[in-house]
Amino acid sequence: MNQSGPDTDVLVVGAGPAGSATAAWTARAGLQTTLVDAAVFPRDKTCGDGLTPRAIGELERLGLADWLRAHTVNHGLRAHGFGQTLHLRWPGGTLPDWGSAVARTELDDHLRTTAVKSGATAVDGERAVDVRMDGDRVAAVVFKGEGGTTREIACNRLVVADGVRSPLGKKLGREWHRDTVYAVAGRTYVDSDRSDDPWISSHLELRDERGEIVTGYGWVFPLGNGSVNLGAGTLATAKRPADVAIKPLMATYAASVRDDLALTGELRMPTSALLPMGGAVSHVAGRNWALVGDAAACVNPLNGEGIDYGLEGGRLLADLLGDGTADLTDAWPALLAQHYGESFSIARRLAGLVLTPWVLPRLGPIGMRSDLLMTLALRWMGNLVTDDDRDRAARVWRFAGRRSVARDARPPFA
Ligand SMILES: Cc1cc2nc3c(=O)[nH]c(=O)nc-3n(C[C@H](O)[C@H](O)[C@H](O)COP(=O)(O)OP(=O)(O)OC[C@H]3O[C@@H](n4cnc5c(N)ncnc54)[C@H](O)[C@@H]3O)c2cc1C
Repeated sequence: MNQSGPDTDVLVVGAGPAGSATAAWTARAGLQTTLVDAAVFPRDKTCGDGLTPRAIGELERLGLADWLRAHTVNHGLRAHGFGQTLHLRWPGGTLPDWGSAVARTELDDHLRTTAVKSGATAVDGERAVDVRMDGDRVAAVVFKGEGGTTREIACNRLVVADGVRSPLGKKLGREWHRDTVYAVAGRTYVDSDRSDDPWISSHLELRDERGEIVTGYGWVFPLGNGSVNLGAGTLATAKRPADVAIKPLMATYAASVRDDLALTGELRMPTSALLPMGGAVSHVAGRNWALVGDAAACVNPLNGEGIDYGLEGGRLLADLLGDGTADLTDAWPALLAQHYGESFSIARRLAGLVLTPWVLPRLGPIGMRSDLLMTLALRWMGNLVTDDDRDRAARVWRFAGRRSVARDARPPFA
């Protein structure tokens, strides 16, 4: 083993949105940063590619607003289901009032380049396979490159941004609690004559091949490049595993929206993945290491979006590292809980409720008959509420979050 690998202050493993954002911000703060990924970029990632206003806000902070606007801009969500169609604008408030969608192959490559331009050193094609400890500190990470060669990169601090399964996080004791609601979701690309549609579409009445309602939703996100990202996701827990095959579900869904959304081609590149949500993991940090993004289950339980939390979490973690916080063991989960604990707690409680078989067929039609209810639902489901929002809907959401977290047997990130 080669022990003379480059030393770095901050070592970031995983160059998805969470890792690249962390690396961009630590490098901008003047910290020597190395960003390593197992894949060779550009690489694909199974995702809906949707960027809600929360993600847009973070991408604006990174200086990418013009780049995004050159792709596609949407005004909000067109919600379909139970005989209704509603146009629900993004609420604005303290967040941007627009959304976008960019294929992850392109978005992640651009974010990684942004980290490099910010001063980080990026290495790809090297998989983290182990850590070397020095007491309770991570001293180095062991990487395996092409051809099986191994080397160590020694670091002062380690950021683990290695996604859903977080193999490196597991080595450090990360535990994912599948008794809390999680998602099984898939996506595919389809050519469409409505690729410039200024609304994203979501179908809340998702039916399988037998015509049964599935707990989840289908989406069509226009990419502005002649195609759309079409996908479907369903919720599950260890007690109620998803008994639905995602690829056939996507095919059934695509057939049902083909005319409406002017789909013109075959379904391309269908893939699916599991999604831990709502901070349902323990051991998100140790003395000099921290988990961020999907590795820390920073995904909204009500809509499955996590790009925004990856980007935002990366910035928050970089701030903590920049402050020189000596011990991350309690500081990082406390910061995550402060920002997301309440909203993730109430969201996963509601998602658990939706899993009750009668809830969606009975309450869905009532909700879809009311513009007001659905506007509120969009705001709450998308967690489009910040601490600075003072309006009544924001206060109700925060109140419900506080009550929910107080009743949690295992709060988010605990
Ligand atoms: C079907 C589906 C649809 C979704 N739709 C949306 C959506 O529309 N909008 C949204 O906001 N979110 C969506 N999400 C969630 C979103 O994809 C994730 O939350 C987001 O990718 C999290 O980013 P990340 O940086 O934490 O992890 P990732 O993007 O998964 O990045 C992790 C990186 O770590 C690397 N890595 C893994 N293991 C190692 C290792 N051992 N060594 C080195 N590198 C390693 C991987 O190669 C990868 O590049 C969706 C998810 C799914 C499954």
